[in-house]
Amino acid sequence: MADPVRPTVLTPYLVGDRIKLKKKHACGGLDWEVYRIGADLGLLCQTCGRRIMLSRREVARRIRRRVKTPGGE
Ligand SMILES: [Zn+2]
Repeated sequence: MADPVRPTVLTPYLVGDRIKLKKKHACGGLDWEVYRIGADLGLLCQTCGRRIMLSRREVARRIRRRVKTPGGE
């Protein structure tokens, strides 16, 4: 939050971000919440609660849009 914004071609995801992917999960859900940040992003399916890990590149390829975090700017 207090971190300076670093110029990057990759979207700087934050824990708690909600994102929508193009491809449906096995359960039919499209909405995910970022629960872990690292070399890979940990995503929690908002529909069935399952967790997956995706590389940032995969997320960038599959994302439809980023949903603002409730309470965020
Ligand atoms: Zn699911």
